[in-house]
This record gives sequence, structure tokens and C-alpha cells, in this order.
Amino acid sequence: MENCIFCKIASGEIQSELVYEDDLVVAFHDQVPLAPVHILIIPRQHIPTFDDLEDRHKDLAGHLLLVSQKIARQNNLQDKGYRLTMNCGRDAGQEVDHLHFHLLGGRALGRLG
Ligand code: 5GP
Ligand code: ZN
Repeated sequence: MENCIFCKIASGEIQSELVYEDDLVVAFHDQVPLAPVHILIIPRQHIPTFDDLEDRHKDLAGHLLLVSQKIARQNNLQDKGYRLTMNCGRDAGQEVDHLHFHLLGGRALGRLG
């Protein structure tokens, strides 16, 4: 997608330090970290929001979850715990219209608002 910042990061058009990549998924540090670990996990494919997921994305959606777990373990978060969140749409404050998980950890995160 033209003008999608996350598509540009996934394609390498914008250089970013990737913490994980495979054929379907890339992950990188959030530029405004809200916790000691704050990693964004995205599909290479441009899917705007969670609400745009369809049955044909089933394998990709499962893969995103398992990659998120792997990255949490790589960051040694599994014992103390962590949060995996996805904002969908305006009321959730989604700013970038390219599906992404936030992986947050490394401190006590408090309750969800
Ligand atoms: P959202 O509010 O859409 O769920 O989260 C978007 C996240 O992307 C925000 O936490 C923001 O800091 C991060 N972000 C936006 N643009 C960039 C960028 O160009 N590079 C990186 N690394 N993070 C970005
Ligand atoms: Zn995109």
C-alpha cells in the first residue's frame, strides 16, 4: 500500500532494525516505547485493521500469534508476563492503519483502561 509506513518498514523501503522477520511477518521496536519492551508485530501484507481479517487470513492470524509468543520468549518475558494488544479503529486509538500487535513487557503494566 502506498503511503503506509508499516508497509514501507516491512518492504525495507524505510530502514528499521527488525527484531524478527520471516516470509509473512516482521517485528520491530516501537518508536515511542511505553515499556522497557515494546515491539510491534505486523503481517507483511497490508491489512488495515483487525476488523478486516477474513477466513482466508486464518493461517496468517495464527502465525502472528505464535510469532508474538516467540518474540516474548526471546525477550525473557514469559516468567513475569507481558501484554499483547491490538487497537482496532478510532475508539481504541489506532493510529497506523496496518494491522499490528503491541508486545509490551518489562514492567508491571497496570489494568487496561
Ligand atoms: P496504534 O496506535 O496504531 O495501535 O500504534 C501505532 C504505533 O506505531 C505507536 O505506538 C507508534 O509509536 C508506532 N509508530 C508509528 N510510526 C512508527 C514508525 O515509523 N516506526 C516505528 N518503529 N514505530 C512507529
Ligand atoms: Zn500497510
